Amino acid sequence: MSDLICPKCGKHGDEKEFIEAFCSDCYPVKLKCPTKLKLEQCKGCEKLKIGGEWTAYSDKKISDFVIGKCRGDFKYGNFDLENHIAEFTVVKDGKQTTVRRSILFEMVTTLCKYCSRISGGYFQGIVQLRGPEKKVEKYANMFIKKLSNKTFITKEEEKHGGFDLYVGSSKAVIVLLSELKVKATITRKLVGLEEGKRLYRTSFLIRL
Ligand SMILES: [Zn+2]
Ligand SMILES: [Zn+2]
Repeated sequence: MSDLICPKCGKHGDEKEFIEAFCSDCYPVKLKCPTKLKLEQCKGCEKLKIGGEWTAYSDKKISDFVIGKCRGDFKYGNFDLENHIAEFTVVKDGKQTTVRRSILFEMVTTLCKYCSRISGGYFQGIVQLRGPEKKVEKYANMFIKKLSNKTFITKEEEKHGGFDLYVGSSKAVIVLLSELKVKATITRKLVGLEEGKRLYRTSFLIRL
């Protein structure tokens, strides 16, 4: 039996771990956390915008971002995204305890530069497959499968005598063509300027 009673919340020493006179929830740990935080996430590719950069999504990155905004006497911290609770491990008088703070975390969905360009109708490459129907179908499926791992496919269009595939990155097409040892007739057309950079649309004509 413990006769400790937390002066802040009234919890008893039997129901809670104590540090000095306080329960571990109320122990006055020097800890400064924002009450609210938000991050931008791209609804196209799920990337997160952290420190001005778009980066691949991971729960760990969100946790590191939130904990990185907190200051205090903790050894390490972890943010529970589901419950919006930041947990900090604090060592005091050789005793280790967990301190929790709730932080209202908001994910703001938006479009990254890359995806907004695509949804705005920009695309960098067109794969034009031409040849016998069966062969075109086989190659179209293969290209769709392989390219969607690497870039965006913005449009698929059946053409008379072939198939057109609009993709976000012509570089990905070049890499795939050399992997598959497929020859293509490449033409590049200037379609506009963005932030002083020339935007090209590249066509890959593949005769099967
Ligand atoms: Zn307490
Ligand atoms: Zn995106």
